[in-house]
Amino acid sequence: VTPLAVGVDVGGTKIQAVALGDAGEILDRERGDTPHVVDAVPGSTLAGAIESVVTTMLARLRTSPDDVVVGVGVPGMVAYDGTLVFAPNLPSANGARIATALATLPAHWRALCENDADCAVVAEHRLGAARGIDDVVMVTLGTGIGGGIISSGTLVRGRSGFAGEIGHMVVDANGPRCVCGGRGCWERYASGAGVARLAREAAHAGKLPTLVARCGGDPDAVRGEDVTGAAADGLDEALAVIDDVGWWLALGIANVVAIMDAAHVVLGGGLASASSVLLPAARRHLGALVEGGGTRPVVTIVASQFGPDAGAVGAALLASERLA
Ligand SMILES: [Zn+2]
Repeated sequence: VTPLAVGVDVGGTKIQAVALGDAGEILDRERGDTPHVVDAVPGSTLAGAIESVVTTMLARLRTSPDDVVVGVGVPGMVAYDGTLVFAPNLPSANGARIATALATLPAHWRALCENDADCAVVAEHRLGAARGIDDVVMVTLGTGIGGGIISSGTLVRGRSGFAGEIGHMVVDANGPRCVCGGRGCWERYASGAGVARLAREAAHAGKLPTLVARCGGDPDAVRGEDVTGAAADGLDEALAVIDDVGWWLALGIANVVAIMDAAHVVLGGGLASASSVLLPAARRHLGALVEGGGTRPVVTIVASQFGPDAGAVGAALLASERLA
């Protein structure tokens, strides 16, 4: 009997679980809040919260826990043994060994832990927007930027499992401080936090008069969502900021393409909801930024097919590939 594959995506605010059917269809889903507790044993509160979300879902599916494999996607650097060694955007989980914790909890699930964007690229490559394409970069635009790379059909993991941390490529050595401790990382420009920062700068520079007026005249009150929303409505001053963000997005993509010659870039994560305006902006700039842009085959940029489910679906797929 093939065990039921469960995937869990741990985000900064929510834990999201899905159960996958044999054909990759989502049978059920469940959500819970991400705890931000620093434990004596790192991540034990988080593991308990994951167990609770998955147990609730399994009770509905009437599946015996023996027949379950669980994949967990987490935002940060995950070692081959499943340890989340560094999670700059979820620091309370630094050092967490989620898979080990899940295996020792009463449920005794066979479990693995993997970087969330690595999970997402597996979902898109096996079943989604990158199906049939073997050189793919997944860029997840959330609070930060996550990356998952498939090269010649294989997930690139690296010496310790840390490959694909593309959000922390330095694109301006004198740029703003990053949560990782560095300076001028790509995710300071092209993520949700990057849009918010570029929006605030534009507001203070007098480039967003309509939006500042809508916010009662306070430039600091203009949020990233205000800009992406107004851009989607066609407001020129907002589109100009999104064009800037698209340039930064294309710059990072060009760097990754220079290293691994991607055919296809899939954009996911929370900010991908703004893809109707971000995708055209990134496409517009990529040709001029990528080496040999006029002569090499066009690098396509598309939106994630699984959207907010990509991480959880990919985690479930990895669990069934590696554990079942
Ligand atoms: Zn960084």
